[in-house]
Amino acid sequence: MLPEFTKQKVAEAALNFAGTGLSVMEVSHRGKEFVAVMDEAIALVKELLNIPEGYSVLFLQGGASLQFLMAPYNLFKSKAAYLNTGVWASKALKEATFFGEVIEVASSKDKNFNYLPKSYEVPSDADYLHVTTNNTIYGTELKSDPEVNVRLVADMSSDIFSRPIDVSKYDLIYAGAQKNLGPSGATLVIVKDDALGKTGRPIPTMLDYRVHIKDGSMFNTPATLPVFACLQTLIWLKELGGVAAMEKINIAKADVIYKELERNKVFVPTVPAPEDRSRMNVTFVMAPGYESLEKEFLDLAAASGMVGLKGHRSVGGFRASIYNALPIESVQALVDVMKEFEASH
Ligand code: PLP
Repeated sequence: MLPEFTKQKVAEAALNFAGTGLSVMEVSHRGKEFVAVMDEAIALVKELLNIPEGYSVLFLQGGASLQFLMAPYNLFKSKAAYLNTGVWASKALKEATFFGEVIEVASSKDKNFNYLPKSYEVPSDADYLHVTTNNTIYGTELKSDPEVNVRLVADMSSDIFSRPIDVSKYDLIYAGAQKNLGPSGATLVIVKDDALGKTGRPIPTMLDYRVHIKDGSMFNTPATLPVFACLQTLIWLKELGGVAAMEKINIAKADVIYKELERNKVFVPTVPAPEDRSRMNVTFVMAPGYESLEKEFLDLAAASGMVGLKGHRSVGGFRASIYNALPIESVQALVDVMKEFEASH
C-alpha cells in the first residue's frame, strides 16, 4: 500500500509534471525539473535516515535482485559471510558464490525460516556480513542493527523507513522501492564511499556503484515516474514526523494484530518468538484442529474487502502486509473479521 498523498501526486504528474505541460513519463531526465526531483529525493533519504557524511545515496534499477549481484561485485575480495533467514537471503548468498568462498554463518531453514538465528560467529577475515532485515515471506524481522566486526551489508527491501536505523553501522544498504517507498522500478542504495574500489577486480560499468555515484544516479536514464513517486512518499513521511514517528505507528499496528493472534483460538502466528516477529509482514495459520477452515476465512476476508491476505505458498496460511502506508484502521478491520470468524466457529 502506498500513501494516498503519493498516488494523488503521481496521478497529477502523470498528466502535467511541475507545470511543464508534459507527463513525468515524458520529460528529459536531464531537464531541471526532474534533476530537482532526484536531488530532493536523495536529500530527503539522507535527512530521514540521518545518514552521516561519507555515504552516497543512489536510485538504480534492477530491483533488490540485482543488488544481490552488485553487492559482491563491489565489496567481495575473497570471502563473504551470509545469514540465511529465507528465500531472499538464499538468493543473495547464491550470487556471492560466483566471487569466492561464501560462509553461511547460520540458517533457520531447519524450521522453514520461522525464527532468526541468534548466536553465530562471523569470520573476522570475511569481507562483509550480509543480512536481510525483514524476511517478507516468513514474517521475521531483525529490528535492531547487528553488531559485527566486519563490514555489514543489508537487504532492507521490506522494512526500510519503518524505523530509525544507525546507518554508520552499515557499509551498504539496499532496498527495492516497492514496499515502503514507491512502485517497482526504483531501487534505493546507500553505500559508504570508502568501502568501494577495494576488490582489485574490474567491474562492468553498469554494476559499479562508483559510476552511478559519479553521475548522480543518471549514468543511464533513471526510472523517472518511480523516483518521483518515491520522493512523494519521502515528503509524506517527513510530514508525518519521520522514521521515529513511523516506528511508533508500526509498533501500535503490529501490537493490535499479534495480540489478537495470541488471543484468538482459531489462528496461530507462524513465528513463535515475539522478538523475531515482523512489524511489516504478519504471518499466521489456522490453529491445530481448524486447518480445514483456511479457505473459508480467506473468503470472509475477501468479502470484507481485504485483498492479498493469502500467505506465500512456501508458508501457507495468511500474510497481512502492514507496510508504512497501511492505516491502523485497516489492521483493526482485519482483527474484527478474525474475531467474527472465531465467534462463528
Ligand atoms: N529482498 C526482499 C527482502 C524482498 O522482499 C524482495 C521482494 O519481495 C526482494 C529482495 C526481491 O526484490 P526485487 O523484486 O526488487 O528484485
